[in-house]
Amino acid sequence: MAIVSLAGVTKTYPPTTRGGAVVTAVDDVTLDIERGDVFGIIGYSGAGKSTLVRLINALEPASAGSITVDGTDITRLSERALRSLRTGIGMIFQQFNLFSSKTVKANIAYPMRLAGWSRADIDARVEELLSFVGLADKAKAYPEQLSGGQKQRVGIARALATRPAILLADEATSALDPQTTHEVLALLKRVNEEQGVTIVVITHEMDVIQTIATKVAVMEHGRVIEQGDVFDVFSRPQNPASQRFVGTVVKGVPSPAETAALRERHDGRLVTFSFRDGVSSQAQVFVDLAEAGLDFELVYGGINDIRGRAFGHLTLALRGEDAAIDRALDRIRVQVEVTEITAEGEVH
Ligand code: ADP
Repeated sequence: MAIVSLAGVTKTYPPTTRGGAVVTAVDDVTLDIERGDVFGIIGYSGAGKSTLVRLINALEPASAGSITVDGTDITRLSERALRSLRTGIGMIFQQFNLFSSKTVKANIAYPMRLAGWSRADIDARVEELLSFVGLADKAKAYPEQLSGGQKQRVGIARALATRPAILLADEATSALDPQTTHEVLALLKRVNEEQGVTIVVITHEMDVIQTIATKVAVMEHGRVIEQGDVFDVFSRPQNPASQRFVGTVVKGVPSPAETAALRERHDGRLVTFSFRDGVSSQAQVFVDLAEAGLDFELVYGGINDIRGRAFGHLTLALRGEDAAIDRALDRIRVQVEVTEITAEGEVH
């Protein structure tokens, strides 16, 4: 069952300048986040991702549509009920948002104090959380004494303090270097797998989605333009905007500049073969091309792994009679996605 469900959700803001236009930050969004998902929301800056999170968190009301969190329609709740709902949702941020004048322990204890926990319960929980995030020796440290990765670990511990069912991560790794990003993502994966917390990850970084998300929604201009399993969206994006995004992180897809360089360097027709799951179809491509008597050269390629499933793209320069190439491609198309890169663009 969905833990977060949005149906026809729109959020508009009044014009920011006199005579300006109304801003539609989120536009008719419908999506379900299942319990236990790591759900990625991706899109360029200004796509509406943060607004969507503020709606889920009930920090702002939607202008239209309904939002259900853990079985409750939050568009109809009193402010008091909303406050209690928010304790069931943890949140981490790009800039960590720690209290600089409080120790690590006091930062993590803060939401428990707000919720009225006893000192003994708070102490026990803080100890448990510090050990879970690998900072058992930092209880008395102040945020300024910590690295970025350590600060975000404290942020995660604080967000989990009152045992929320949902964790919202808004660009939580965008201020971190690649190695630290990797460590924080590994921790979030443990939060999901060991604690059963549903995680919603907002990011403009496709590789974050590739590393930990199970599902993804791609946003553009306030709309969700594509959603589904990460493997499906990454290995076969349908929408041109998601193809652009995915192309920036997926291995084996030449950029327009690289395509131009390939065309300079190699004679023949440039054709990309896209494979999903399994190598037998790859071998068959080479067999079919050889049997057709074509001369071929591998000019670009890469294999990707998403949570243990592989897909890849190989670009070959094919030389021979046009009709013979067409016949061979038709045969291959039955098993494998074939995209010819012509001077005018891609032909499927
Ligand atoms: P993202 O998180 O994908 O970068 P945002 O949700 O922050 O996108 O913003 C989506 C759009 O809504 C942008 O055009 C932004 O300028 C606008 N917007 C966001 N918050 C407000 C606000 N409080 N008032 C007016 N416009 C806003």
